[in-house]
Amino acid sequence: TILVTGATGHLGRLVVDSLLARGVDPSAVRAGARDTAKAADLAARGVQVVALDYDAPESVAAAVDGVDTVLLVSSSEVGKRAAQHRAVIDAARAAGVAKLVYTSASKATTSDLVLAPEHKATEEAIAAAGIPAVILRNNWYTENYVGDVARAKDTGVIAASVGDGRVASASRADYAEAAAVVLTEDGHIGEVYELGGDVAWSFDELAAAASEVVGREVRYTPLSTEEHAAALAAAGLDEGTVGFVTALDANIRDGALAETDGTLARLIGRPTTPLVDGLRAAL
Ligand code: NDP
Repeated sequence: TILVTGATGHLGRLVVDSLLARGVDPSAVRAGARDTAKAADLAARGVQVVALDYDAPESVAAAVDGVDTVLLVSSSEVGKRAAQHRAVIDAARAAGVAKLVYTSASKATTSDLVLAPEHKATEEAIAAAGIPAVILRNNWYTENYVGDVARAKDTGVIAASVGDGRVASASRADYAEAAAVVLTEDGHIGEVYELGGDVAWSFDELAAAASEVVGREVRYTPLSTEEHAAALAAAGLDEGTVGFVTALDANIRDGALAETDGTLARLIGRPTTPLVDGLRAAL
């Protein structure tokens, strides 16, 4: 049995889809959900649905019981994640799982990416637990830019403080398929895969893709960090969010997401979804 945590989230759902598409019997897939009502559609497809709240260790232990393979989809609760992930790691070790797969971030152990520390802590906890594991270090989702593209339909502009930075994004479905591959194939144990799209695109290229998708000219407006922060604050974002968004853009400017080596395409056996196609599908 394969347990997928966060199975009611965007990525988790796509992983379940990919597992079933690869011929895994639905009864051998266990969807962990903090709100099982949100997984009713999965239950209707024959998937096991179990309660799994990272903050409730008993639920995690029960969810892992009898499972040989676990996909720990990193939590969305930034700031609480290292402890939440540790609950799953502890339960997986206690249950003696044969393979733990974790969705991490690009170069998690060495990156300046503001999101990296929780992923680094998690990778280290997995190593310390001695569980046979596979680390999937996912670059950005193309879907992260759907909001920018939708706004550009009205404004004709994508404003960001990334300078000439590039992002090797791929669609969530690409990463989900890679997860399904390593969950179902023998091997991969001990691998740390840096996963990203085949193309590291610039924001001029993002604007060009947006133009194609929304059917009007869209231009990238490069902002300084200060200009960007002021614009976000004027749009009503709170100080913490403004700091987070501008820090991520600074990471991109510094190249934190710019590298790609084709590993994702090799794992899934096809090219990754091109930027314009990923945006179009998500819009
Ligand atoms: P989602 O927000 O759609 O899914 C997150 C999942 O985590 C949801 O199923 C959510 O449950 C679950 N979750 C949150 N808190 C808990 C908890 N306490 N106990 C159990 N489950 C919990 O994110 P995505 O699917 O799009 O992405 C998956 C993960 O990838 C994110 O959680 C984040 O760590 C990371 N990420 C990566 C990005 C990238 O570009 N590479 C961008 C954004 C996120 P519920 O359905 O009930 O909300």
